[in-house]
This record gives sequence, structure tokens and C-alpha cells, in this order.
Amino acid sequence: QSRFSTLRPAQTDGPFALDAAFRADTDPRKVNLIIGAYRDDREEPWHLPSVTEAKRRLKVEHSHHEYLPLQGSPKFVEASRRVLFGPAIVQQQQPFLASIQTVSGTGANSLVAVFLEQEHLRPTNIWLPNPTWINHADIWKVNAPNVKMQWYPYYDDAKRELDFGAMVETLQRDCQEHDAILLHACAHNPTGRDPSQRQWRELAQLCLKKRLFVIFDSAYQGFASGDLDSDAWAIRHFVSYPSIELAVCQSFSKNLGLYGERVGALHMMVSRSNPNGANLAAAVQDNLIDLQRACVSMAPLFGSRIASEVLGNSDLEEMWKADLSTMSGRIKAMRSALHDELLQLRTPGSWDHITEQTGMFSYTGLSKEQVEELQLKHHIYLLPTGRASMCGVTSANVSYIARAIHEVVS
Ligand code: PMP
Repeated sequence: QSRFSTLRPAQTDGPFALDAAFRADTDPRKVNLIIGAYRDDREEPWHLPSVTEAKRRLKVEHSHHEYLPLQGSPKFVEASRRVLFGPAIVQQQQPFLASIQTVSGTGANSLVAVFLEQEHLRPTNIWLPNPTWINHADIWKVNAPNVKMQWYPYYDDAKRELDFGAMVETLQRDCQEHDAILLHACAHNPTGRDPSQRQWRELAQLCLKKRLFVIFDSAYQGFASGDLDSDAWAIRHFVSYPSIELAVCQSFSKNLGLYGERVGALHMMVSRSNPNGANLAAAVQDNLIDLQRACVSMAPLFGSRIASEVLGNSDLEEMWKADLSTMSGRIKAMRSALHDELLQLRTPGSWDHITEQTGMFSYTGLSKEQVEELQLKHHIYLLPTGRASMCGVTSANVSYIARAIHEVVS
């Protein structure tokens, strides 16, 4: 008799299981469109020149390995605020801001869920977009079991467009006051479709009216458009409403290529119209530190050193901005190349969504059966939902991918 005999079989995470199948595939033509990490045009992980230079300057062989403070590296936290909100907002709103270094974006998402699970703060519902990043539902299930998970419609499969009408209608009708809502700051994963500025304005009004607690997940700042400020526009717009209280889960995995180092932060902004706001922010800060202490003690050191070095030196920051253009530029070029190949082949259907979507992924619109056929016949791997990572597309394999797609849809 074992206490573990009642364990339910684990649902191995879809993308990771598929990745194992890809590795086991011995066909030389195989293509990996699963990966959520940038690859260069030779399908290799890319060493960002800004990060390489930061590591050189840090002289890592001489650095110590002490604990970080519980809040994280003060230099890193300060720099991450500036990148996210811009210097003007940081200067004006600093008293209302609580920030803590986290175990990357996942850690920030988990910590905000743990924070809201506390009885005296707990919203009735957390509203997640349907679809969303595969891990959001599990994060909320594990960390905030008493907050009810609700889904708002996000995507119109037939039109391959954001379904803004349905989204707003559902939120207007079904959100309760003080509920929490999760929004992707840019480059929505998996659909690659974001609200326009006009639509973001409307959403901000809705959140204000319903007194929603807004959680932005910002995993792709600068990686999507190539420009840090454009990709943070929605967050900064919401901040312009003094009574909207919000959290931002910030990840540096993609934009600094520090995936395995787990570099991120959670920022919380309390009401700027409450005269007691500064005291509330200090209380939030202490509470976050307590919760983080119980979960992981403190975030990892090494990656935040690299990030601080890049963000804290203007010459390295300029190099980083060039790196962001390189990465987003290659992805955009591959979107165009795939789109053009499909058009040239006269592949049935419209493929404009491939170039219109932004960020790492393309929501191709391919059916589960077509995805299966791509894998079995052509050794091309993508998620069953039809989500393809554009990072796996290269100038060498784009024609092969287009011909395979042509075959499965014709
Ligand atoms: N949020 C979204 C929307 C993501 O796509 C990801 C990464 N796939 C994350 C958060 C978390 O990434 P990390 O923990 O590496 O920062």
C-alpha cells in the first residue's frame, strides 16, 4: 500500500511531449515549429551580442554566489520598472508601485495568483482569454484554487481575427465588480492578435467601470514589434487611469534570450487616486516579499546580473535594441516568406493572417487532422491547435514547409 497509488496519471505538458517526439524523429527533413524560443536562421539558439558583451564585462569567473535580497536585486528591479513603464511614469508613480524580482514570467504569474488567493483580497473570478498560454489555467488552478476561473472569448476562428465584439459583450455582461482579468500586453500567445489602440482604450474604460483588477502578462516586450515602447503601450495607457489598480507579470526570457536563467518581475500599482496610496503600496510590497519567501525565498541571481548590466549601461541598452530588431525582423521576414510561398503555390484559402499576426507564433488555422498529417507525412511539428512557432522557420526550410502545408490543405 502506497500513499501514491491514488495519484492521477500526469498530463504531460503538450508542447514538451511533442518536443520529445521531435527529438526522437530521425528524418533529416524534420522541422520544429513547437519551440517557444528564438532560433537564428540556422535553427540554432542565438547569442544576443548585448548579452555576450554584458557577460564579458561582468567577469563572471570572479563573481560571488550569495543570496539576493528577498525583493530581488535593487538594480534589476529599478531597471525592469523603467523598461516596462518608461521613465516618466516611474518618476510620477513610484510611491504607488510595488515590485519584486520573480522566477521569470511564470513566477510572476504564480505570485500574483497566490497574492489574490488570500481571503481578504480574493476576487470571485479570474477572467482568462480563450485561448491563452497553455500554462495560465494550471497556474491559477494550483495557486488560487478558490478563485473561479472564467473564460472570455478572444478569437474568431473563422475570420482568424480578434473577436473584440464577443470579448466586450461577455465581460460587460458577466464580470462581477472587483473580479480580476488577465490581458496579454502584446503578441498574444497563441493567436498573435492584439487589440488596436482604440480597442485597448475601450477595454480600459470597461475595466474602470467594472472596477476590475487588471493583470497584464508581458512576456514579449520589444520582441513583438522590435520597439520596447510600442509593445508597452497598452500597459502605460491603463496606468493613465489613476483608479485602475493593476499587476504586470514581466518576463525577460524572450527579449533578452535568458530563457533558462528565469529573469522576471512582478509589479503592482495601487490606486493613484487614494490618498493613502503610498502606504498601500508599501503594504503590498511587504506582502509580496512574505509570499515569495514562502514559495521560493528569492529569485535567481545570475540572469538578473546580466539583465542589470544590459539595462544599466546606455551603450549595452542600444546594442540590445538592435538585437530586438534582429529577432523581430527575422520573424517578420519569415512570416512574409511563408505567406509568399503559399500564394505562389496557390494554396487554397487566405494566408494574410500569417503576416498580420505578431510575435513568436502564428495561429495558422490548420485543423488537428492537418497538423497530424504534417507531422506523420512531412515531419513538421506544431501544436494540435495549429499554433506554429515562426522561430522554427528559416530561409532553408520555408519552401519545404509551404509545400507541405499546400499538400495537406489541397
Ligand atoms: N506568459 C506568456 C504569455 C508566455 O508565452 C510565456 C512563455 N511561453 C510566459 C508567460 C512565461 O515565460 P517565462 O516563465 O519563461 O518568463
